[in-house]
Amino acid sequence: MTQDRAHRVNKLLEDANLEGFLFLDRANLRYLSGFSGSAGALLVSRKGATFLTDARYTTQARQEVSAQTICEYRVQLDGILEQVNELGLRRIGFEADSLPYAMVERLREKSPAGCQWQPESERLRPLRWAKDQNELTALEHASGIAAEAFEEILPLIRPGVLERDIALELEFAMRRLGAEEKSFDTIVASGRRGALPHGIASDKAIAGGDLVTIDFGARWKGYHSDETVTVAVGPVSAKLRQIFDIVLEGHDRAMDAVRSGVPLRDIDGIARGYIAEQGYGDYFGHSLGHGVGLEVHEHPAVSAQSEVLAEEGMVITIEPGIYIPDLGGVRIEDMVCVTADGHRRITRLPKEFRLLPV
Ligand code: ZN
Ligand code: ZN
Repeated sequence: MTQDRAHRVNKLLEDANLEGFLFLDRANLRYLSGFSGSAGALLVSRKGATFLTDARYTTQARQEVSAQTICEYRVQLDGILEQVNELGLRRIGFEADSLPYAMVERLREKSPAGCQWQPESERLRPLRWAKDQNELTALEHASGIAAEAFEEILPLIRPGVLERDIALELEFAMRRLGAEEKSFDTIVASGRRGALPHGIASDKAIAGGDLVTIDFGARWKGYHSDETVTVAVGPVSAKLRQIFDIVLEGHDRAMDAVRSGVPLRDIDGIARGYIAEQGYGDYFGHSLGHGVGLEVHEHPAVSAQSEVLAEEGMVITIEPGIYIPDLGGVRIEDMVCVTADGHRRITRLPKEFRLLPV
């Protein structure tokens, strides 16, 4: 664990008045220990960190994990409780947002008398907010793969080609360019399907005059990219062009506002306010953005409800959209990093209106 991360966990223990913390969430495990496998546990106390995993992963853990102690268990719960006993921990925190209720019940049932398991949610959220240089490099690399793959498959976006074939080619190109995996199921929503904010690529064929919204990303070294491009396949109607311009302007204004210390809800409000002023407030139903890193959607949310201030190192998305049933939709999304004096765009693709030949 880097000093900085160890410091954050120690502060968490202090703030929550805990003797130890049990991490089971995969993204947190990777962040804190370096472990990239699918089954493990990290028990952190003031005395240090113990990483636990099963026989499938012991060798991998010895290569990847930076904890002081690595233990192998047959049954995860037993392994955890053995360590809890050995370390004499009595007040232990757990990840309330991701630990299954049944697991918490079993931990409580099998723990020695006097042992308290304390759910933690709010206090955990800032843990991975601020990205360090290695993380930013990984996010930029993932975005670079996605951009290169997109430019490669761009000629494919033409009338008659199926949405799902575009998704498939894009995913294939990202993998070929070094992505470990796509960040999430690729969204390709053309024509009227553009009104579906999460329109997973379907069997619909692209038609001339469609706007095509493509939301996609690549994962590299565990870090995800996430961006949305909306392109026009041949000339589109004046109404579609109008909503494109409104979304782009809302996007640009919100991007410009990103700087350290600004409330995230204000950034949401800038895009939302502009879109509402133009008469489309009812057609922008989701929040403006989200954090992105080891998970494609992570804290902090960039929404009207947010009480978080933009902080140096945070990487968030800015993704306003307008979705009009039976007509179509537009979303434009970039990833941006909050810097000391403003922001830096992480994604690379141009977001201006692009008219593809038919
Ligand atoms: Zn997206
Ligand atoms: Zn997103």
